[in-house]
Amino acid sequence: MTAENSEGLVCFPGELAPATGVYEVSHLAHHRASHQVVVIRGEEFPICRACKAAVRYRLVRAMDHLHHDWDLAGPESWTTPKKSIEFSGLRAHPRFEIDLPIVLVEMPHTKSPTLLHGHATTLSEGGVSAVIEPRLAHPKKRLSIRLPGSGAHHDITVSARLRYQNGMRHGFQFVHVSREARLALRELCTSAGA
Ligand SMILES: [Zn+2]
Repeated sequence: MTAENSEGLVCFPGELAPATGVYEVSHLAHHRASHQVVVIRGEEFPICRACKAAVRYRLVRAMDHLHHDWDLAGPESWTTPKKSIEFSGLRAHPRFEIDLPIVLVEMPHTKSPTLLHGHATTLSEGGVSAVIEPRLAHPKKRLSIRLPGSGAHHDITVSARLRYQNGMRHGFQFVHVSREARLALRELCTSAGA
């Protein structure tokens, strides 16, 4: 399901938002009139304080979140001066909160690789966690992950495998990270972790 064709979709409390956009909230116990809210893809729809689970969220208009747009999440957003992190003094793979687009490439070395788009929420040199809307077709197979590089770096591509999945939330462990990719990941962590 893409953001474009999910408009009109009705979601329940406890579900994760399938797309970023404006949702109309209907309070089925009529505790208040319906109203609109902005929800980011992957956020969990809450229950209402008054109506409890008797509340529905209908996607009125899907749109991209600024940080999840591949072209806008790159170098220009990293121009703010940020203090550097001293990696050598930290444990092996400190984690950093990030908010960046991510692309999974399933079966990357075959004739028919599959691209899945999502957004990354935490990053370390050892792995990444991300909200991915579509289901992985080959969750046990190794895949490629692409992240937008910070500064002058090109997009980062690393090999990874799925470590856990909870709804749309996925955790991936990097495997065989090249020196170049490791440096780019470190820089991305440093930029994000300021
Ligand atoms: Zn309510």
